[in-house]
Amino acid sequence: MLKVGIFGATGRVGKLLIEEILNHNHFNLSSVYVRNELQYSLPSSTMITKDFEIFLQSSDVIIDFSSPEATKALLEVALSYPKPLVIGTTGLDNDIQHLLENASHTMPILYATNMSKGVAMLNKIGALVAATLKESDIEICEIHHRYKKDAPSGTALSLAQSCAKARNLKLSDVRISGRNGNIGERSANEIGVMSLRGGDVAGRHTIGFYLDGEYLELTHNATSRLTFAKGALDMAKWIVEQKNGLYGIEDALEI
Ligand code: NAD
Repeated sequence: MLKVGIFGATGRVGKLLIEEILNHNHFNLSSVYVRNELQYSLPSSTMITKDFEIFLQSSDVIIDFSSPEATKALLEVALSYPKPLVIGTTGLDNDIQHLLENASHTMPILYATNMSKGVAMLNKIGALVAATLKESDIEICEIHHRYKKDAPSGTALSLAQSCAKARNLKLSDVRISGRNGNIGERSANEIGVMSLRGGDVAGRHTIGFYLDGEYLELTHNATSRLTFAKGALDMAKWIVEQKNGLYGIEDALEI
């Protein structure tokens, strides 16, 4: 049985991960990291702790859905107590991404801004269309629930990154997030990445390729947050078999 530790246990995704682990007997909920108080009870065999070292050492693999600051703190301690990691937290800045890369020299890490298999396919197909329909204008639009903190979503940025790479462009040079006022015409290389927020939407991402006379829109809808929890658990099973290094969901799916 795979011993799984959950970081971000009181969060929306963290709670679903715990439910999913407790409902399946091929996983063991070995440890949960809790900053303040846990509002529900867990099996007595589960280590509930706010000590990073104990948390890391109690499990075969750690799944993190927390916040950028929390992920940073986890990675810093994991450098001394390495453990296979599955990281789903989004909004990581360049410094934390750098830390993630460094840490992956001493432990296997899977980082995915979206743990759904459908989005992994959207990334792949989006890059293909971006490279093929070279003259199309690319606009990405995402909507998420009202509680989401980072914008644009990590997924939208990953999709934009795939499209930019497919066109040999640097995303930071071409990304436009938000338009307002008399801003002039759209430039050819621009990649628009726009965010909407509202209700309880688990996540919808559309990549649009706009040409003269036609357009193609590719949309992924997450109809339940459970998709991310199930995907992360699949990735946990995979990452424990890997050598040190930084992986994406596309490596696990071999796409
Ligand atoms: P949430 O706000 O409901 O939960 C966040 C959790 O992290 C809570 O348990 C909170 O206590 C904990 N946390 C926050 N700051 C902390 C700190 N400094 N130290 C320790 N713990 C801390 O958020 P959520 O909706 O569950 O999402 C969590 C993260 O996962 C976000 O970054 C979100 O964008 C991302 N996410 C990723 C995917 C994916 O598929 N990769 C899917 C959904 C959400």
